[in-house]
Amino acid sequence: MDRSFHTRRRVLVTGGAGFLGSHLCERLLEAGAEVICADNFFTGARANIEHLLDNPRFELMRHDVTFPLYVEVDEIFNLACPASPVHYQHDPVQTTKTSVHGAINMLGLAKRTNAKILQASTSEVYGDPEVHPQTEDYWGHVNPIGIRSCYDEGKRCAETLFFDYRRQHGLPIKVARIFNTYGPRMHPNDGRVVSNFIVQALNDAPITLFGDGEQTRSFCYVDDLIAGLTGLMDTDEAVTGPFNLGNPHEVSVRTLAEQIIEMTGSKSQLEHRPMPEDDPRQRRPDISQAESVLGWRPSVELREGLVQTIAYFDALLSGQAR
Ligand code: NAD
Ligand code: UDP
Ligand code: UDP
Repeated sequence: MDRSFHTRRRVLVTGGAGFLGSHLCERLLEAGAEVICADNFFTGARANIEHLLDNPRFELMRHDVTFPLYVEVDEIFNLACPASPVHYQHDPVQTTKTSVHGAINMLGLAKRTNAKILQASTSEVYGDPEVHPQTEDYWGHVNPIGIRSCYDEGKRCAETLFFDYRRQHGLPIKVARIFNTYGPRMHPNDGRVVSNFIVQALNDAPITLFGDGEQTRSFCYVDDLIAGLTGLMDTDEAVTGPFNLGNPHEVSVRTLAEQIIEMTGSKSQLEHRPMPEDDPRQRRPDISQAESVLGWRPSVELREGLVQTIAYFDALLSGQAR
C-alpha cells in the first residue's frame, strides 16, 4: 500500500492564483508537497495555475480569506492581498480586511492545526523611508490616513498579529518583507511599473513616468524571491524574521524605463504624469540578515530578469490584439 501521503507536507497557499502565489505553488509541487491554493480571484487568474490543475497533489479552492477556513495543513503561506497600488486602492476597506481579518483567520487555522505560518509582508511597512537602505530594525515612516495606508497599515497590523500569536500562543511564525518583485505572470494591466513599462514599450505606446522618474526601487526577479520564501519556511522554529527579501540593486524609475525601451527596441517616448500621493522616494533592502541567517541572496541580474519578463509579455500580447 502506498502510504506516502501520510508523510507528504500539506501546504496551503493563500493568494495562490496570483503572480507570486502561482510560482510558489509550482515550486512546492516540484518539491513533492500537497498544495491547496485558496484564492478569491480578485487580482489572480485561473490561467496562472491552469497548468497545475491536472496534478493530483494540487487543489484549487475559491475562497476569500476574510472568512474562516477549515482545512488540515502543515504549513501556510499567507500571500492573499492585492499588491499593485491600483488594485489595493480600488476597494481600500476590503484591502485592510484582507490583511487583518485574513491574518486572524490564517493564524487561527495555524493554531488549530499546529501549522507553520509565513506572512508575505512588504517593504511598504517602511513607508516613505528616512533610513536608506532599509534594515529590519527600522520602524518606518508611514502615513496612517493616506491612500496607501489601507495596504501599508493592513500589512503592519498583520505583522503585529503574527508576533502576538507567537508571544501569546507560541505559534511558529515567519515574516518576509518582500521588496518589488517582477517576472512572468504579472498581470498586463496590473498597474505596477515593470509590467506597465514593458507592455507600453512592446506596443510603442507612451511610457508613463510618474513625477520626475528620479524615485528609486530595487527589483527582484521572481525565482530568487520564491527561493527566499521557501528557504525561510524551512528554517528552525526559533527563526521568525522579519526578513527583508529583495534585490539590493537600486535603479531610478527613469533608468528602468530607458533600459526597457532599449531592450525592446521600442519607439516609445517618455510621458510625464503627476506623482501619486505618498509615493516613496527611495527603496533598497539591506539583506544582510537574510544572507547570514538564511544563506539567501538573489542571483538574477535585472537585465537577465527583464529578458525573461519581456519574452513573457511579448508572447502574451502576440496571442491577444495589442
Ligand atoms: P497578486 O495581486 O498577483 O496576487 C495576490 C493574490 O491574492 C491574487 O491571486 C488575489 O486574487 C488574491 N487575493 C486578494 N484578496 C484576497 C482575499 N481576500 N482572499 C483570497 N485571495 C485574495 O500580487 P503578488 O505580487 O503575487 O503578491 C502576493 C503577496 O506578496 C501579497 O500579499 C503582496 O502584498 C506581497 N508582496 C508582493 C510584492 C511584489 O512586488 N510582487 C512586494 C511586496 C509584497
Ligand atoms: N479559524 C479558521 N480556521 C480554523 C480555526 C480558526 O478560519 O481552522 C478562524 C476563526 O474563525 C477565528 C480566527 O480564525 O475567527 C481566529 O481563531 P482563534 O482560535 O485564534 O481565535 P478565537 O476563535 O478564539 O476568536
Ligand atoms: N510608476 C511609474 N509609472 C507607472 C507605474 C509606476 O512611474 O506606470 C512608478 C511609481 O510612481 C513608483 C514606482 O514606479 O515610484 C514603482 O511603482 P509600483 O506601483 O510598481 O510599486 P510601489 O510604488 O508599490 O513600489
